[in-house]
Amino acid sequence: EIHVENVSYRFGEREVLTDFSADIEAGRVTALVGPSGSGKSTLLGGIAGYVKSASGRVTVSSGPRSPREAPRPEHIGWVPQGANALSGRTVLDNVAIGVLSRGITLREATEIARAALDKVSLGDRAASLARELSGGELQRIAFARALASGRPIILADEPTSSLDAANTENIVELLYALRSTATVVVATHDPALIAAAERCINLREA
Ligand code: ATP
Ligand code: MG
Repeated sequence: EIHVENVSYRFGEREVLTDFSADIEAGRVTALVGPSGSGKSTLLGGIAGYVKSASGRVTVSSGPRSPREAPRPEHIGWVPQGANALSGRTVLDNVAIGVLSRGITLREATEIARAALDKVSLGDRAASLARELSGGELQRIAFARALASGRPIILADEPTSSLDAANTENIVELLYALRSTATVVVATHDPALIAAAERCINLREA
């Protein structure tokens, strides 16, 4: 779970999210919605721990009665905005590289990466070069990386922004699959994704 308590973010004179609070439950897909500039990406950064709030705090816990602690990098699987991958490396390498940083063997990393690729239905593309993939497939690689990292919180910024309806549906299915093992939060403008989310947090009404 993620606990956002009375946070405000400040960039120079500009204040984003004034005294904002929300509890984000595990096991559900939560969408952060609101107009451009309302602070969706800022709040994701705040949850990830790399945007510092001017006041208030964000904490994470493994359940409603578990101890709360500040988010650490090892809690967060980050799916960046826009598909980015090492274009000259294989799909498998792109996912395995992220796993390797945890200090495990190449063989183990490869096994974990293969399992994650199967979960995002890209198992048959493992040997393809990343540059041969479509935008939707690249977005799924980004999720595979977050999945392979095994981190309990998955944050995705506009994961369907450049995708057609079929690929959007793939991402929605993936988010639902991920929520059994992770707290999933997406920032989005996409009506299809908003409709699919189990909970919406509107940053303007907050
Ligand atoms: P969009 O839907 O366009 O992605 P958003 O809801 O994600 O918008 P944010 O990216 O969180 O909005 O930005 C919220 C506000 O904070 C914007 O006005 C933005 O210009 C400002 N802002 C965000 N990050 C910074 C920064 N590092 N420095 C200065 N201003 C920033
Ligand atoms: Mg944004």
